[in-house]
Amino acid sequence: MDEQERPRAALVTGGASGIGRSTVALLRQRGWQVVLADLNAATGAAAADELGATFVQVDVADEGAVARAVGVCTQTFGRVDAVVNNAGVGGAFGAITEIEVADWDETFAVLVRSVFLGIKHGARAMKEAGRGGAIVNTASVAALSGGAGPQAYSAAKAAVVNLTRSAAEELAADRIRVNAVNPGLIVTPLAVDDEERTAAVLSGIQPWPDLGRPDDVAEVIAFLVSDAARFVTGEDVTVDGGLRAAGPRMQ
Ligand code: NAD
Repeated sequence: MDEQERPRAALVTGGASGIGRSTVALLRQRGWQVVLADLNAATGAAAADELGATFVQVDVADEGAVARAVGVCTQTFGRVDAVVNNAGVGGAFGAITEIEVADWDETFAVLVRSVFLGIKHGARAMKEAGRGGAIVNTASVAALSGGAGPQAYSAAKAAVVNLTRSAAEELAADRIRVNAVNPGLIVTPLAVDDEERTAAVLSGIQPWPDLGRPDDVAEVIAFLVSDAARFVTGEDVTVDGGLRAAGPRMQ
């Protein structure tokens, strides 16, 4: 088949659950071929099976594994048009006076080194093919403010937003767009274990009355990798029900 006629292909990390899984489902619905990469072999393989994607077990902090996942996308589908660097963990948590260096570094490896590696190997493949491409990095509203407790997470996500800008500038000449999404609080296993309690907490601070769902973020990621976003690069798009925009409540 002529390269131009093949369906577009994407690599989505953290595709076994939450925002990544919804992104895989949406891209498949829109005709994309997808490599679903995740550390969790059981949930990853099951999700890929259900959604018609190709599963690759990957630790996103491991350069060889990320390079192999990009290679699987090229070999299986003949192209890599998009990389969604989405896998994540909560990481080191607690008082800044108590966090161990190893836990801090591990948080940055999973949340920031991963994005660097996805950009490095994804963009290499895109440059070689010469067709351009799109990269989307899942950052967080935590990147936009401080927050006692998850300091490592907030700092790492802020790094992801700025890495997005730098990579976008460097790769624009090759027509490779690089953007980020900043989800607010989204109902996934990572963030919410009790929806009722979460809704009660958010009712005082998030203007939009409903909780955020993985599809709310996946829709924005799907837009950012599509041709409709042809002129959008270096941006971070916040998807948070107005959480960031809201001012203090006076009553
Ligand atoms: P989730 O736990 O539902 O999914 C995360 C997936 O990443 C899991 O399948 C997990 O196995 C995988 N993963 C974890 N470490 C990995 C590694 N080292 N290598 C490969 N895969 C790994 O979580 P989610 O809420 O869908 O999170 C997706 C992204 O969204 C993360 O980057 C997270 O920080 C970000 N985010 C989430 C929220 C939220 O409220 N849910 C808010 C802001 C940002």
